[in-house]
Amino acid sequence: MAQFQLNILGCGSAIPTARHNPSSQILDIRDNLFMIDCGEGAQLSMRKMRLKYTRLNHIFISHLHGDHCFGLIGLLSSMALQEKTGSVTIHIFEDGAELFDQQLKFFCRDVPFDIKFNVIKPSREVIFESHAITVETIPMSHRVPCVGFLFKEKPKLRHLKGDMVKFYNVPIKDLHGIKEGNDFITADGVVVPNARLTTDADPVMSYAYCSDTTFNPQIAEMIKGTNTIYHEATYSNEFAHLARPRGHSTAAEAARIAQLAEAKQLILGHFSKRYRDESPLLNEAKEIFPNTILANDGMRIDLL
Ligand SMILES: [Zn+2]
Repeated sequence: MAQFQLNILGCGSAIPTARHNPSSQILDIRDNLFMIDCGEGAQLSMRKMRLKYTRLNHIFISHLHGDHCFGLIGLLSSMALQEKTGSVTIHIFEDGAELFDQQLKFFCRDVPFDIKFNVIKPSREVIFESHAITVETIPMSHRVPCVGFLFKEKPKLRHLKGDMVKFYNVPIKDLHGIKEGNDFITADGVVVPNARLTTDADPVMSYAYCSDTTFNPQIAEMIKGTNTIYHEATYSNEFAHLARPRGHSTAAEAARIAQLAEAKQLILGHFSKRYRDESPLLNEAKEIFPNTILANDGMRIDLL
């Protein structure tokens, strides 16, 4: 099993269709589940994809349009009935925390786990940190306050070259510092550069979720160098005139963001209900950024 797997629960836009639920996805980081947006139907998709409630401890809501949060109260209610224990933290704007707190008081009186609200702002800020990852908010350009989420694995330790460690007689107490990148100083005061003792650390995972937004090159700056970008692509070029007034992007604009950000992979989502087949969106994006794929409900993607 991959260490970082993206599970698409829904990749449609405002109105659910027979093909797509509204926005919701789960990033599985070594069996810890991080939900991003929770549109209607998210809990059913979790069941179909056999993603366990017990492993879900964080839910990130990008903004307070219904297609990104109408699934939340239903999901929390089911989790309560399933007797989940521990805690769930909902990262959400202040209005949303107040609203869902009221709904919880009304519908879910006996919740056997802690529900915490972490109030976020439409600014750039690290909102979650564990020993392995950080999650940062990235301001989007939408009709209401909206953020994307940048998940980044923390830098890993460098690999020791066993033969060189032996050759220079490096004491055990110095090994951790060398793995962190320090040079080694011998008893005679000779500096052994780190590069002689180690090889590069394994690459780190990074994933940016960008929805909903009009085209904004500043977003590319903020997520520069991210391996995989999910970007909303509500429209094809034919309906480009609708994108900006409605606070959305075309597939080509999403591709331009991936290109400017120097990403390795682009996933398109948040498709308008007018498309029965999203291949025109894929083709338009690929002309600008070839390594593009279309999201689909039920899809699992191993992240780079
Ligand atoms: Zn929206």
